[in-house]
Amino acid sequence: MSARQEIISGADMRMTYADLNERIGRLACALRANGISEGMRVGVMDWDTHRYLECFFAVPMMGAVLHTINVRLAPAQVLYTINHGQPDLIIVHEDFMPLIDKIQSSFERNIKIVPIGNGKGYEDWIGDVPSSFNFPDFDENQTATLFYTTGTTGNPKGVSYSHRKLVLHTLGLIAGFGAVPGNAGFNRDDVYMPLTPLFHVHGWGFPYAMTLLGMRQVYPGRCSPDKILRLIASEGVTFSHCVPTILSMILDHPDSLGTDLSRWKVIIGGAALSRGLQERVRAAGISLHAAYGMSETCPFLTVADLSCDDPDLRSQTGYPGPLVDLRVVTPDMRDVPNDGETTGEVVVRAPWLTQGYLGDPEASDALWAGGYLHTGDVGYIRRDGSLQVTDRLKDVIKTGGEWISSLELEDIVSDCDGVAEVAAFGIPDERWGERPMVVVVKADDALGEEDIRSVVVGKVEQGRLSKWATPERIIFIQELPKTSVGKTDKKVLRAIYGGKS
Ligand code: AMP
Repeated sequence: MSARQEIISGADMRMTYADLNERIGRLACALRANGISEGMRVGVMDWDTHRYLECFFAVPMMGAVLHTINVRLAPAQVLYTINHGQPDLIIVHEDFMPLIDKIQSSFERNIKIVPIGNGKGYEDWIGDVPSSFNFPDFDENQTATLFYTTGTTGNPKGVSYSHRKLVLHTLGLIAGFGAVPGNAGFNRDDVYMPLTPLFHVHGWGFPYAMTLLGMRQVYPGRCSPDKILRLIASEGVTFSHCVPTILSMILDHPDSLGTDLSRWKVIIGGAALSRGLQERVRAAGISLHAAYGMSETCPFLTVADLSCDDPDLRSQTGYPGPLVDLRVVTPDMRDVPNDGETTGEVVVRAPWLTQGYLGDPEASDALWAGGYLHTGDVGYIRRDGSLQVTDRLKDVIKTGGEWISSLELEDIVSDCDGVAEVAAFGIPDERWGERPMVVVVKADDALGEEDIRSVVVGKVEQGRLSKWATPERIIFIQELPKTSVGKTDKKVLRAIYGGKS
């Protein structure tokens, strides 16, 4: 790896790996000068920039804990995560200072705020004098990072990772995505740009893996679809990862038509990949594969077969990564047959899963009941060992004694011409327990309820779907509610339309 390899951040920051190394030392010196020492916690509220990457390394390497604060939560939840996580110092970009001003008076402890303006303040703060920092040695099981789940139920929960877990996850990602024939995974020739927020599971852990490989990296800063498209073209980005919503937004932008996306490999995770989106992606020439994981799993668990071109295989939830022991089980922890249809809960073990939730022994015990981490996802395993997640346990629609996968229903509706986005969920029904409801965002005004119903009924007639899956209600809305990381927020939909909370 060359120390001259470039890291690009936004429109105006370029540095080499040698610079990165030196700047990590300067950042550690600045933190030390501000009283940070081993075991203390450092929060970050910033866009996806080189500064974040520097914090990813400097803070844990000092023996301190990096608390990546989810800036897209509601202010009350941001306050909750700060009071719960108890950082000693928070580095804050100017765009998040109004939020700090709003909640600071409710901080339960004295927290040093380091305002960094639009980034210039950060440069002044870390100074421009080359300085080395004597990073200490410590136990590999020491906590390195802390962040909070996105809280689709109740308050966000604190999830932390040790140095050992982060290192093993990094190696697991490299083995899982790097050791594949062809060019669908990643290797040193790639140019990497993350499109999942760095506060969310360390940007899915990819920045650590890409830095270890010495890859050219591009950090987009505050993102918008046009800016992302510009960076893909100008910097020759070849590898990214994001949730489906972000990819849809990029493809919706008119500039996507004039941008060559044929060298761009994208890993989609965080939510199921619909058939509709897959079609659009294929038309744009993007190489796309699905992967699966969650906040509590660092997050890598499975990835679709990276060596195949078949769009159906590419969008499968995929094969367990190296060192991932994955089972699909009944409520009493018995394995269901790997027959490609019997569903159960996905439970896992791997050397990088979180030990539990910060300060919440009850939820931690439930997470690890029976010695496996419970994902709360429902799925099945095919004969060839690949996993298909069919739903979240709490999103399954239980109607007339049948379990309907809300994801499958969404997949079918998304395939209907004129559908931009869809969400399916259960609404209470006196007779059947629940009945399916779908809400749709139109891409074409002419789309009507009957168009959607007939697509679903067609699948029922083909035997692909249970008759119980025929929606009870179909309504059109302007926009689907989204969580802080861009996933459809079904909790909000259920609250509006009367489903279980
Ligand atoms: P989070 O902890 O916010 O990252 O959310 C993790 C959850 O997202 C998982 O438990 C799944 O329910 C869902 N998820 C992640 N990846 C996929 C995928 N490839 N297909 C379906 N659902 C997914």
